[in-house]
Amino acid sequence: MGPPGTHAPGGVNAILTRGLASACCYAGTRPDCQALAVVRYGPVSLCASCDQQRSTLGKGTPATPLPDPHALLQIGAARQACQRAEAELREAVGRARKAGQPWSAIAATLGVTRQAAHQAAQQRFAGLD
Ligand SMILES: [Zn+2]
Repeated sequence: MGPPGTHAPGGVNAILTRGLASACCYAGTRPDCQALAVVRYGPVSLCASCDQQRSTLGKGTPATPLPDPHALLQIGAARQACQRAEAELREAVGRARKAGQPWSAIAATLGVTRQAAHQAAQQRFAGLD
């Protein structure tokens, strides 16, 4: 297991294997390598950390900045946060039902109409009662 999010759909490995970002040429060989390339010198792609340690490699070769792959990681992380929040909401609604709260009270707390709450009960929270 890598760091949290590494194997997630929006994690480092996922965006690399799907070709959405380039791997640093030192990925897996340097302990401080960040794996995701942010700059390219000819055929050599480097992460920010390896780029800082660059000495003679690619000297005289113009740097080509790559689209920041961390922007994609942020989307992945935000999506995971949404999914966690959704699961937390489902659990909270389930606990409220077990505690005897009527759907009308749950609907009011969610800030939706009774009709919307009824639809939510049938769709989003199906199986909770
Ligand atoms: Zn690197």
